[in-house]
Formats: sequence, C-alpha cells, structure tokens
Amino acid sequence: MRYISTRGQAPAVSFLDAVLAGMAPDGGLYVPESWPALTDGLVAGRETPPHIASGYVAHSGYGFAAGAAMASLSGGAFNENQAWDLAADVYHNEKCWPPAVTPLVQIGSGAWLLELFHGPSLSFKDVAMQLIAPLYDRALQERGEKLTVLCATSGDTGGAAVEALKRRKHLDLVVLLPKGRVSEVQRRFMTTSEADNIHPIEIDGDFDACQAIVKAMFADRDFATRARLSAVNSINWARILAQSVYYHVAAQILCGQGPVSFSVPTGNFGDAYSGFVAKRMGAPIGAINIATNANDILNRALETGEYARAGMSVATLSPAMDIQVASNFERILFEALDRDGEHVKRLFGDFAVSGRFEIPATARRFLREHFTSWTIDDEETLSSMKHAFEHQGQFVCPHTAIGLAAAAKQLDEDYPQQLGLPIVHLATAHPAKFPETVERATGVRPELPAKCADLFQRSEKFDSLPADAEAVKQYIRERSRAWS
Ligand SMILES: *Cc1c(COP(=O)(O)O)cnc(C)c1O
Repeated sequence: MRYISTRGQAPAVSFLDAVLAGMAPDGGLYVPESWPALTDGLVAGRETPPHIASGYVAHSGYGFAAGAAMASLSGGAFNENQAWDLAADVYHNEKCWPPAVTPLVQIGSGAWLLELFHGPSLSFKDVAMQLIAPLYDRALQERGEKLTVLCATSGDTGGAAVEALKRRKHLDLVVLLPKGRVSEVQRRFMTTSEADNIHPIEIDGDFDACQAIVKAMFADRDFATRARLSAVNSINWARILAQSVYYHVAAQILCGQGPVSFSVPTGNFGDAYSGFVAKRMGAPIGAINIATNANDILNRALETGEYARAGMSVATLSPAMDIQVASNFERILFEALDRDGEHVKRLFGDFAVSGRFEIPATARRFLREHFTSWTIDDEETLSSMKHAFEHQGQFVCPHTAIGLAAAAKQLDEDYPQQLGLPIVHLATAHPAKFPETVERATGVRPELPAKCADLFQRSEKFDSLPADAEAVKQYIRERSRAWS
C-alpha cells in the first residue's frame, strides 16, 4: 500500500518516504491509498478480553496492537514479526512506560480516563514520538542519509521529540517554540537535553507563526532538499498511525454491547483524526467529540459550515491547544469529500487567499455523522478541573479538563447517539506539566513524577529568533549536519 497526497498533485510514495517527508510536495498531507481492515492482531483483544485489574490492561496487549497497526498500515515496509519486534522495543520498555502503556482508569458509570501521559515528557505526544524515532533510524541507516527534523510546537510536541530524538546520530532536531506561550515545565523538557543534535529556538510569535515558518521552509524546495527537511508535527503520518493504537486498544477493552465514544481535547486535530482512522479500520467507535478552547475554528466549522481563521490565536489556560489553523482537518476533509484531491486543493487555495472557505453540504453531513464538537472557556476549564478533583479524585491537566467538560455538555444536551455508550476521555498531559493552573483550580500543587523530579535543577540551553523563516533557514545552514 502506498501513500497519496490530500491535494492529489504529488506522486504516491512508500510508507517510509511519507514518514521521512512529513508533508507532500504539493502542500498536501499523506494518507493511505486505501484503508486496510483490522488485522488479527488488532481483533485479538476482542476475542480474548485482556486482563483488567483496577482499570489497567496488561502490557503485552499494547505492543501486539501497535505491531498489528504498523504491519497493516506500513504497506509492506514491515511484516508482522518485524512490526511486533519494533513495537515491543518501543512500548514494552519499563524505563519509558508503565505496564499498560496507556492505562484506563474508571471515573464514573460508563466513564473512563485514558491516561496517555506516562511517557518520558509526560504528554500523549510521547506515544507517537517514541515510535517515530526507530522508524527514522531504520530508514536513515538503510539509505545512508542524514536529516534536519523540524518541529513547531505548541508546548508538548517539542519535549516529546527531544526525548525521542536526542543523541540520534543521523539527524538534527530544530524545535520552534512560541515565546511566552509554553509552561516552564514544557519549556524545560525542550531545553535541558544537553544533546548536541537538539536545537531549541524560542520564536517571537505564537504557534501559528512557528507552524507557518515550517511550511515556508518546506515550500522553498531548494532549501528543503539541501537541508533534507522532515517534520514531526502532527501532519506526520507515523504520529497518526501510532495514536490510532490506543483508540483500538481502549475501544476493544470496553466495547460490550456497542461502540465506545471518545472525548478528545483538540488543537491541530491530529489526535481526533487518529480516532477516526481507528474507526475507519473497524474499531468499535461511536462519536468522537472534538473539545476545543477559545481557539475554536473546528467547533465553528462544524456548527456553521464555514472553516475560517479568526485572527491571532488567543492565549488560554490550555496552551497546547492555542492553535488557529488545525492542519489535520485537511485529512478529514479529504475523506468527507470522497477523496477528491482537486476539490481539497481548491478549498485550501481559497483558504490561503481569504482565510476561509465554505464546507460543501455533503462533507458537512459526513463530519456531523462522525464528530460532535464543543468549545470550553477558561472558567469552565477551571471548574472542570475542580470537579474532577473533588468528585472523581483525579488531578487532570487543563486540556484533559476541556475534554471532560465538553463531554458533560454533550450529556446535558441529551445527544441520543451518546446515551448509554461508554465514553473514554483522553487524558493528554500529566497535571504536573501545568502546576500553577492545577493549583489555581484545586488548591493543591501536583508533583512531578520521580523520573523527572530534577527537571528544575537541570541547566537550560536555547536560542532566540524573530518569527522569520529566513532567519531560521540561516540558522539551519550553519548548524545542520544534513546541509549540503
Ligand atoms: C497537542 C496537545 C493536544 C492537542 O492535540 P492535537 O493532536 O493537536 O489535536 C491536547 N492536549 C495536550 C496536552 C497536547 O499536548
């Protein structure tokens, strides 16, 4: 199976090429040419229900599912045994993960938290980034190539990329982080690696400015080729693949009579789209609830049918979701338009010019069939954190709180397709990544886990640049080992 661009103008490529490139040369995003059905590995969970003890699923199940997903989506790059070996190395690693990898914790009748934050940098971004690192290693070793990996981050992707890629010989990682828009814990995960292949840069702008710099560097084809650019943002297909696994695993553990719903704190739409991928491959998933903060382009798109940017992003208590333009929306629109790349290209052409387009009626129906959406403000975020602490005994990060609050609204509104179905709330970051906000909501300051308790004693190293693609290009020319 090969990978095609959502804009229909780029040649189809192999799985590893899609992962290395990050983005297609026509400006589109790579998606699989067709959707494979669940393989035996992914269905196994249904036949032999995994052992659940106090909400925790056994270890081996996760790597098995991840290997199966890799084998079916890698288009022959890995056979099942190779994929299982690779996934087992990544996920059955006690230094990185608890036995369940992504534990499910029951918080009410039919309500669960899916804890995705037990990896090295304490957010769900680790789940995918830890898998991407060996994929890069393998591809670069095979080809004898070097890469410059770019990462624009709203806070958590950067830390996960640094943890996964530090000291890898074949690549440099350039992290663009928005100045003043990330928490201190988030920043420290990016700036304290002491690895000489890691280059954190504080950009004088917001996340959208960082993302725009990445896109501009890719658009300069000569520069992109000479620097051997790759991107590990959520536009990278490997991240989507890796994230679809916890949806498969959670849905299969919990599906009894019917499908399972998910509530997903959403920024760039990578995580929510990963849920759609799992569903499309046959996992028993009902509605996927898109929960946004005040940066609500997706909620407005679903409600009004117009996808329109609204100026600069607003700074909120959930900074990892302070994103105006949700890149992965292009992937779901491609599906919603019956995979018509020409049409997607036209719409995003309009968007580049006027900052808006009208979603065609059939596509809108498709979106409403699979997704619901809500916007949660800072006040509601705080009261959701307080509620989780006082009534469910859970510290949750502000992003997770948005997913919880959105799901609560959903039940209030009596959504018929939701009632009676189990619902899984994605817990996307560890509460200790946002200690001030958690303390403000609950009166208690959460502690960093023991494995990173020394984070504030480590020394920081980073550079600062204006929000200007030319300045970042010059920086890369001077430092990247891939530049030629
Ligand atoms: C990145 C992030 C999100 C948003 O995920 P997307 O895939 O960008 O929609 C939500 N919560 C946290 C903690 C994050 O780091």
